Amino acid sequence: MSETPPISQNFIRERIAADLAEGRYGGRIHTRFPPEPNGRLHIGHAKSICLNFGIARDAGGLCNLRMDDTNPVKEDLAYVNSIVEDVRWLIADWADDRLGLKPEGALPQADGADFFLFPASGSADRAARREAFFASDYFDALYEFAVRLVKKGKAYVCDHTPEEVDRMRGAPEAAGRPSAYRDRSVAENLDLFARMKEGEFPDGSRTLRAKINMDAPNVWLRDPVLYRIRHTEHHRTGRRWRIYPMYDFAHCLSDYIEGITHSICTLEFEVHRPLYDWILESLELPRPLPRQHEFARLNLTHTVLSKRKLLRLVEEKRVEGWDDPRMPTIAGMRRRGYPAAAVRAFCERIGVAKRENTIEFALLEHCVREELNRTALRRFAVLRPIKLVITNLPEGRLEEVTATNNPEDPAAGSRAIPFGRELWIERDDFAEDPPPKYFRLKPGGEVRLKNAYIVKCEEAIKDEAGNVVELRCVADLDSKTGGTTANRKVKGTIHWVAAAHALDAEARLYEALYTRPDPDKGGDDLSALNPNSLETLRGCKVEPSLAEAAPGVVFQFERLGYFVRSEEKERLVFLRTVTLRDSWSKVGHPPARP
Ligand code: ATP
Ligand code: MG
Repeated sequence: MSETPPISQNFIRERIAADLAEGRYGGRIHTRFPPEPNGRLHIGHAKSICLNFGIARDAGGLCNLRMDDTNPVKEDLAYVNSIVEDVRWLIADWADDRLGLKPEGALPQADGADFFLFPASGSADRAARREAFFASDYFDALYEFAVRLVKKGKAYVCDHTPEEVDRMRGAPEAAGRPSAYRDRSVAENLDLFARMKEGEFPDGSRTLRAKINMDAPNVWLRDPVLYRIRHTEHHRTGRRWRIYPMYDFAHCLSDYIEGITHSICTLEFEVHRPLYDWILESLELPRPLPRQHEFARLNLTHTVLSKRKLLRLVEEKRVEGWDDPRMPTIAGMRRRGYPAAAVRAFCERIGVAKRENTIEFALLEHCVREELNRTALRRFAVLRPIKLVITNLPEGRLEEVTATNNPEDPAAGSRAIPFGRELWIERDDFAEDPPPKYFRLKPGGEVRLKNAYIVKCEEAIKDEAGNVVELRCVADLDSKTGGTTANRKVKGTIHWVAAAHALDAEARLYEALYTRPDPDKGGDDLSALNPNSLETLRGCKVEPSLAEAAPGVVFQFERLGYFVRSEEKERLVFLRTVTLRDSWSKVGHPPARP
């Protein structure tokens, strides 16, 4: 286990408090969460969402959900929509009122001399809030900013191929070689850049580069590319643009345009920070300028948190899709029944550190369990049934027992469950040849049927192959609540479902997606995929009240775990959200679960 405690629960929050105390942004706090719409969001993104929206909420500020949609090759409108949906799901009841505000009127087209800011305060009305911001809305403004850099002699058009640019950049210890086009005149640069924009040149033939320092120890400052040519349709701007800004150029300026104060990102962007500052400083923009702050990304055992790798699982059909319940995506967790509050509690619990660490998947499950224990209604279900017959109850006799819906929540009340002579119990709850300390049902042994009678097993009936197919028991008919032997103690209690009233259901049990705790290490992550990550059980028996279970609602199946009703309407399918207890082995491989 490589867990390191966070160095400070909130070093970013401390900096924000200091900025507020110094009045740096006039008391304003404005953060953003900037996903690229090239995949669905995962639990790592959830950490960033909770951090950014949480800061906005606690500081009375705003947080923009901004699509970083500057690379049309990999992006897609469907991802934009799913990202909005996933963010809303995670924060809707918590920080939705922190979403940034809509511009007053249409977005002005920047003319290069001026820029625009979104309102930083104003109506707190939900209708005044903007569901999503788009870097592509700023393409005109960004272009004008680039022209301004060219005019200042701080950017030039370079004709080297991308491979040449890469090669000439050098390495931290080896000096870079300047572009042969570095000293072009401003007039020539302006002309060429305008023609790049008009689509005169093919992909890859030219770039716009910042003129910084080819000997800088930080290679990101060695005349980084700001714009490249891409004759590709963009999902929002269509065919209007033939040049697209690079991340580093678009990001700091999008932050600036939106009036962001704290641009919070993961540690790999630390080396980009001098460039972030260089661009804003070089444009001599009015202050205060946004500042970038970095924190350690979330790493989680037994899964991968990279959109590229998750996309591969989807494309190669290793999983059902982005929302497969085994996926660490927000969509997968939602479908699996993880409550948004549990995901947020997890993000809170792991803290925000400056050093990379790896969190146990078990901690996420622990947070899910904690939330569901409080909220989930209890139900009876038998996953692997075997028949139990109470021989001293008459055929066709219907009794009802009362069961508590949630012992953690008296307001959840209780319900009546039918009980009869023939019941289903878990096959596992009977052992013909029990190990020591086996307190469930065994030949000649007694067990309490939860909320009902104590029964004693008199006979195990077998089929021709020698498999036990039916258990014949006698009940102590005074042992139910209110009876004379109600308080008689037996060591084991098992759950059951009355056969005459049971509903058929399917259950899907999930295990870790990867067998190795660190699938990213030691070769291709596909080699670590867990072949037993999904087990489908048919012929499960559940109590009749579950007929009305709504899709997406999680129940605790007593003694078994938490299960969510799937979207299938025509039949009952339950997905296991999480087991009741942590059964992860400390050495790391996924356990064999019942
Ligand atoms: P991936 O590596 O999965 O493709 P990404 O960083 O490319 O992720 P973006 O859409 O660019 O994905 O991420 C949006 C924001 O989420 C960024 O600010 C990024 O720093 C943050 N983020 C991404 N992955 C994690 C993670 N594992 N933990 C915390 N924050 C993350
Ligand atoms: Mg990224």
